[in-house]
Amino acid sequence: MNFEQFSLDPRIHAGIKGAGYTTPTPIQQQAIPVVLQGRDILGLAQTGTGKTAAFLLPILQRLTKGPLRKVRALIVAPTRELAEQIAQTSATLSKQMKVKTVTVYGGVGKAPQVEALRRGAEIVVACPGRLLDLIGAGQIDLSGVEVLVLDEADHMCDMGFLPDIRRLLKLVPAKRQTLFFSATMPDDIRALAGDILTDPVMVQIGLIAPAETVAHALYPVPDGLKSKLLLAMLQQTQIDRALIFTRTKRRARTLAEMLEKQGYRVAALQGNMAQNRRQAAINGFRGGEYDILVATDIAARGIDVAAVSHVINYDMPDTVDAYTHRIGRTGRAQLTGEAFTFMEQDDEPMVRAIERVLGSPVERRRVAGFDYGGAYPASKSASQSYADHRPQQGRSSAGASHAPAPRSEAARPAAVATAPEAASAKPRRRRRPYWRRQGAQG
Ligand code: AMP
Repeated sequence: MNFEQFSLDPRIHAGIKGAGYTTPTPIQQQAIPVVLQGRDILGLAQTGTGKTAAFLLPILQRLTKGPLRKVRALIVAPTRELAEQIAQTSATLSKQMKVKTVTVYGGVGKAPQVEALRRGAEIVVACPGRLLDLIGAGQIDLSGVEVLVLDEADHMCDMGFLPDIRRLLKLVPAKRQTLFFSATMPDDIRALAGDILTDPVMVQIGLIAPAETVAHALYPVPDGLKSKLLLAMLQQTQIDRALIFTRTKRRARTLAEMLEKQGYRVAALQGNMAQNRRQAAINGFRGGEYDILVATDIAARGIDVAAVSHVINYDMPDTVDAYTHRIGRTGRAQLTGEAFTFMEQDDEPMVRAIERVLGSPVERRRVAGFDYGGAYPASKSASQSYADHRPQQGRSSAGASHAPAPRSEAARPAAVATAPEAASAKPRRRRRPYWRRQGAQG
């Protein structure tokens, strides 16, 4: 199976090649033909499945005909990071076309966005607040919108954007194609989808699709020992690029500061930072300047960084959905990853809920040689017996990569033993992406 089957314009095929895609992902296989027919879509899929190209490619095909310099596709996303990422994918895929994509979101100056719109664009990728602001000020004309995409609808709802979305729906043409994507389908999202979609085709890629390319493990630990355990883990694990999640902005900041003091190349990403600092942190992480990003859930939404080898949940997420989204940051597309979760005693109910969704118990591990000081929780059942943590082989993408080593050997915490060199030097095997393993024709 390849992209040729979709009979897209040759300029779009050139864009696909430029993006480096050779085989459509399952959601692309399912959604592209349906969207090309003009049907509405209810897509149950999260970031990491290739859904952005699944909606962008047919949109670009539509834009090969008809008027230019008129907003014809409106894509609404919950965060500016996701909006930027969609716009970048759009620019890559439409490189050979005359199509222009403009982003619209708050937290940055309005004037450049207004000016870009004035110059003309066919695709607008927007966050709801600023979009409504521009509509109210008469600075954007949506009367020509033919396709509306609502991306990560469940996040928009979590972030309180539901009333904004409902207002927005009254301001775009009623006669349009609507593509609706959400990783989860709580009642309010289902109701919204029911209200705005006409005879939609349901496209579903397993609720936690990336789980198949992600190995999960739990590390029972009391809160007071978490930072020491993290340092021990970082020393023992072959980590190419790690995303660490904390419960609060403050914890993200202090943890990043602590890791930086220990010599790690690390940045924090949290909502109190100005947009330019947030973007610098993401770009630095993506570009390899930082090996570790310490983030809160909201700040990390939608960041698309290829080859995140590890997601470490320093604090347990509040919901199963948040767990799903966090681990969706690793094991993306063709890569595999590991998700390590620190677990306090009070986290048991959340762990059980996560295990229910994963469909199997998650291995409890301990970091070998780490002094738990008697705080190590006792095993409760056979499924909760603890395995010693070992650096994993055959999980990550890169063949010759290194732990995010402190800048100098002298900066390494002396108390913690380093993993044997032989273990980290072995070439690591790339696993087949989950959609190929599910029998899709290559
Ligand atoms: P998304 O779910 O749209 O955020 O995409 C997740 C990642 O998969 C992005 O880094 C995309 O560039 C990548 N991707 C999307 N489609 C394909 C494809 N057909 N082949 C390989 N990678 C892809």
